[in-house]
Amino acid sequence: MGKTTKRSSGKKRAPRDDAKKTLPQLRRKLWRVMSKKLLEGWKNEDGSTECYTCGTQIPPGGKVDCGHGWPKRKYGGTYYDIRNIRAQCSSCNLGGQGEQWAFFNRLVSEIGRAEFEEMSEWRYTGLPTRKAWYIREISRWQETGDFDDRQDTDRH
Ligand SMILES: [Zn+2]
Repeated sequence: MGKTTKRSSGKKRAPRDDAKKTLPQLRRKLWRVMSKKLLEGWKNEDGSTECYTCGTQIPPGGKVDCGHGWPKRKYGGTYYDIRNIRAQCSSCNLGGQGEQWAFFNRLVSEIGRAEFEEMSEWRYTGLPTRKAWYIREISRWQETGDFDDRQDTDRH
């Protein structure tokens, strides 16, 4: 097999199981792994989570969605872009245009106009198509949980 070894500390979960998965399976798994980490990261100390678009404090154990600014069904290129994903209450996440406007309004003030534009350009590129990309992303999310440096990976 190829060069998958990157030896750093400890034992890593072998990516072998992921290599056997189909592309749709990898897509689902990446989303499952990353959304779980994101939901953890968004929690306040008391376990509550703030909805990004309406400000509601969702109590511990309440339902928090990983909401997309650019809708994930329509724009594959920003499906896994963490700049496009924030905590939302269900009613905002299922809501319409107003929430998207609120989402982007806040996002622009958070990350800046240039970053927002850059992210937005990605949305037309479609979902990543390389299994190797998913396998790498899955293992990165599993290993670090640190999602600050996740934007620059080549996607295709
Ligand atoms: Zn909300």
